[in-house]
Amino acid sequence: MIPAQEALQRLRAGNARYVSDTRNGDDATGARRRIELAAQQFPFAIILGCSDSRVPAEIVFGQGLGDLFVIRVAGNIVAPSQIGSVEFAAERYGTRLVVVLGHSSCGAIIATLEELGRNSREQSPNLRSIVNRVRPSVQPLLSTSLANDPQVLLHHAVRANIRMSADHLRHGSELLEQLSQKAGLLIVGAEYNLETGIVEFFDGLDD
Ligand SMILES: [Zn+2]
Repeated sequence: MIPAQEALQRLRAGNARYVSDTRNGDDATGARRRIELAAQQFPFAIILGCSDSRVPAEIVFGQGLGDLFVIRVAGNIVAPSQIGSVEFAAERYGTRLVVVLGHSSCGAIIATLEELGRNSREQSPNLRSIVNRVRPSVQPLLSTSLANDPQVLLHHAVRANIRMSADHLRHGSELLEQLSQKAGLLIVGAEYNLETGIVEFFDGLDD
């Protein structure tokens, strides 16, 4: 089992390689690695990320086959099936780090802000279910001075949504709460910058 802090270091190092455009020497996505992994896996981190085509978790963290257990959904929202997926990996594979990975200019957050500003088009009930999960974290920002600047508002809304998803995972599951208290499970929030490629961990860490 890889401790949460060590897993975090691996992700930071992998993101640094990605940002500097340098590859690891080993072939983490090759046939040999595939065959090694066919019978079993030990992913060292669980990533709950957005479905956005520009934020593939394995690539932005510089990882290969078998490294990450990834759940992707628009707006990196937390609904019961996402909690269940995190529980499954944490329990079955002993994975001890969970990262909620949001990103700058997230379309799901923009759609929610549009809806709150009543500029939105008619949404299907299914899309609405995503917006409804983003709304509680974003709505309070509209009554602050942040609402005066659309770019500033969007930046804060992205982070508020990441924080809410991480909190939801921390407190919406008895199993994850127990693993956090007794077995070293760590749930953190991070934002990926579409322009720089940098992942900034900003929620759930002491430092
Ligand atoms: Zn997104």
